[in-house]
Amino acid sequence: MKTVRVAVVGAGVVGFSTAICIAEALPICSVTLLAEKFSPDTTSDVAAGMVLAEVFPDIPLERQRRWFKNGFDHLLDIAQSEHAPEAGVMLSSGCQIFKEVPAEMKPFWSDTVIGFRNMTDRELKRFPNHKFGQAFTTLKCECSTYLPWLQKRFRKAGGRVEQRKVNSLHELSNNFDIIVNCTGVGSRTLVGDNQVHPIRGQVLKMEAPWLKHFIRDGDGMSYIYPGIHSVTVGGTRQVGDSRLQADEGDSKSILERCSKLEPSLRRAKVLHKPVGLRPGRRSPRVEKELVELKGRQVPVVHNYGHGGWGVSFAWGTALDALGLVRQCLHEMPLQAKL
Ligand SMILES: Cc1cc2nc3c(=O)[nH]c(=O)nc-3n(C[C@H](O)[C@H](O)[C@H](O)COP(=O)(O)OP(=O)(O)OC[C@H]3O[C@@H](n4cnc5c(N)ncnc54)[C@H](O)[C@@H]3O)c2cc1C
Repeated sequence: MKTVRVAVVGAGVVGFSTAICIAEALPICSVTLLAEKFSPDTTSDVAAGMVLAEVFPDIPLERQRRWFKNGFDHLLDIAQSEHAPEAGVMLSSGCQIFKEVPAEMKPFWSDTVIGFRNMTDRELKRFPNHKFGQAFTTLKCECSTYLPWLQKRFRKAGGRVEQRKVNSLHELSNNFDIIVNCTGVGSRTLVGDNQVHPIRGQVLKMEAPWLKHFIRDGDGMSYIYPGIHSVTVGGTRQVGDSRLQADEGDSKSILERCSKLEPSLRRAKVLHKPVGLRPGRRSPRVEKELVELKGRQVPVVHNYGHGGWGVSFAWGTALDALGLVRQCLHEMPLQAKL
């Protein structure tokens, strides 16, 4: 019997992953996902969707390793199943190259991706401005395909979906027992977290079906990621900039930088110029608190602030959020569960 009413706010990759983890693991809960915007209009839809990571300064490395591994294994299972094309998840091989040898030559995720190794001098020869490189196979998760697939999976698990902007958590206090906040950059206003800020990212979707290997500059500013229907070429990282329209100067600069790494891009056609706002924060917030809403103490689980790596970490942090919802259930008065 479903007796505990859970609201998950947010329909990006973090919201849907979290809502599915709860709906599939906790039959006692009826889960409703509410969001102002759905695919194709979320930041997640713009993500290049490469499963990679950088270190978040305030989270123990072990926890980040677990988030990354859980996310990787979840997507690898999909990529190696019959669902891969419908879910938009694929294996992707290529290299990350550096102008200077990085302090950390073996990143914390190197044991999780497949076949991680340093590049040979022969491989590096084509990048004369770069001194060091890493070759490996990871995953690419195309969210404009993956999000509708997740939505289907969520509905199959009994979840309900509602399109609506939540102006204040008070609006949810009468109809829900637990609130899960996955609103990304929206958390700045919804829960007043001033640490959250937009980091504008523009990319180009290009037609270049001859490209099969990804190239990423370790500074994160230039990357070429071949996907299922197009190649994602980027990018920009504009902190505090929330313009959603494409900028011609940015398009030009992206093409110039990336054509130096992959000259054949000069022959490729630009299909779209999407822009998204990464939920910037020093580290993601994955924790629970009790919030007084209309005189009642309501458990709120937060899962937001994944910055430039929300696709990589979504499933991993969703599993942690599920653990926090479980804790809330244990702590709730018996009456609420009956
Ligand atoms: C150009 C670019 C490239 C990227 N590349 C990668 C990559 O290669 N790998 C990677 O891992 N990550 C990448 N990212 C980062 C990734 O896109 C984000 O970390 C991720 O999408 C965040 O997901 P989210 O679900 O938290 O937020 P979002 O996708 O922004 O979803 C937030 C949801 O909350 C809803 N919402 C917000 N406020 C409210 C409210 N008040 N009421 C109701 N609903 C609300 C929104 O409508 C939306 O549904 C990239 C991002 C950009 C912009």
